[in-house]
Amino acid sequence: MDLGISGKTAIVCAASKGLGRGCAEALAEAGVNLIINARSEGPLGQTAAEIAKKYGVSVTPIACDITTPEGQAMVLKACPNPDILVNNAGGPPPGIWSDWDRDDFIKALDANMLTPIMLMKAVLPGMMDRGWGRVVDITSQSVKSPIPALGLSNSARAGLTGYVGGTSRQVAPSGVTINNLLPGLHATDRAKSLDEGVSKAQGISLEQASANRMATIPARRYGTASEFGAMCAFLCSEHAGYIVGQNILLDGGGVNATF
Ligand code: NAP
Repeated sequence: MDLGISGKTAIVCAASKGLGRGCAEALAEAGVNLIINARSEGPLGQTAAEIAKKYGVSVTPIACDITTPEGQAMVLKACPNPDILVNNAGGPPPGIWSDWDRDDFIKALDANMLTPIMLMKAVLPGMMDRGWGRVVDITSQSVKSPIPALGLSNSARAGLTGYVGGTSRQVAPSGVTINNLLPGLHATDRAKSLDEGVSKAQGISLEQASANRMATIPARRYGTASEFGAMCAFLCSEHAGYIVGQNILLDGGGVNATF
């Protein structure tokens, strides 16, 4: 399927690996030029070079922490008027409800709620003026089904989801869509580090910890970054203009709910 977005420009945050990279690759395959971001310059530069070579699009790497105002300014300076914005950042650390104090919540809100909101506020006016835009936020299945150990993530992402619910309806008349993608378990470094935590806490091997988690997923496996990226690229395509303010689960059936 021709996604109809060849020649457009996208900012993809937190994209040197994992789900962000999956989104960047799928957009590049559709002919979209990219500005990609991550904190570590070396791996980011390598990812940018690999994507540019494989898909023949321009890929500009901006090494910075996207959760800081300085980092956001650097990315926006490199690309003030993107057609597409994919919001992403690292997820907060696990724990239990009594672990987290005010500073922990502020950090999680900054990373997983206020950063995407600030980037949307910066790029939405231009998209609306041009009559076309796509925003995809990478959130989590925890928005629909809270994960007890990820209380910081549950809280911050729920806040972002509320903002997107209202904002997406206000920008839709100008041809701009905002949607959230909710990953369940995917085979990335993030999933590995969560499995390592379970392995340590329960005194079992990493393989056993992963196998136990996969057994809870109807698809009996973790998702892949390329499957995730393909859905992101579709939401950014010409064909997705009537999908507004949705929260789309990609979880192998993990959340047991009719809707
Ligand atoms: P990952 O494999 O660990 O990759 C994270 C990417 O984000 C890397 O490129 C990393 O590069 C970059 N990054 C992290 N913090 C950043 C920051 N402050 N500024 C700029 N770049 C940053 O993680 P992932 O599995 O793709 O997860 C992506 C998001 O989806 C996270 O928020 C995670 O909580 C959420 N999620 C993941 C899963 C899953 O199963 N994988 C499930 C639910 C939700 P640098 O370290 O160099 O910055």
